[in-house]
Amino acid sequence: MNAIIERLKEKLREKGYKMTPQRRAILEVIASHPGEHLSTEEIYEFVKSNNQPDIGLATVYRTLILFADLNMISKIHLDDGLVRYEMILENEIHQHHHLICGNCGGITEVMGDWLDEIVERIENLHQFKITDHKLIMYGICKDCRTDLNE
Ligand SMILES: [Zn+2]
Ligand SMILES: [Zn+2]
Ligand SMILES: [Zn+2]
Repeated sequence: MNAIIERLKEKLREKGYKMTPQRRAILEVIASHPGEHLSTEEIYEFVKSNNQPDIGLATVYRTLILFADLNMISKIHLDDGLVRYEMILENEIHQHHHLICGNCGGITEVMGDWLDEIVERIENLHQFKITDHKLIMYGICKDCRTDLNE
């Protein structure tokens, strides 16, 4: 945890920003929920109940946008209209992919990436240099499928 925060502190400093107690508290909340995809409101509630009772929702909102702009965290837009955030893992070249369950709303992360061949085909077909991509697949998760079969 401390190593993650130190790495991000360094990243902030490189871009000319300081690590304030509020910024640190927000990063700690995101870092301590790996694999979860927290909304701005959820992060706000955690930060408030942790050690920043006076923080405002607008501050959390603005800080998250700053962190996303600096590529410290990544944004995910789902169909529920909420913007969710998660830590960008060290050495993660581009964001992993997500499976969204239409029944329970659960998010499954797909860590492997088998899209290289498709990316190459599209680049050749359209003479378009692809620098990144995002992929969200919608369906029914394993737990919901067993419930339906019972
Ligand atoms: Zn489900
Ligand atoms: Zn994720
Ligand atoms: Zn990919």
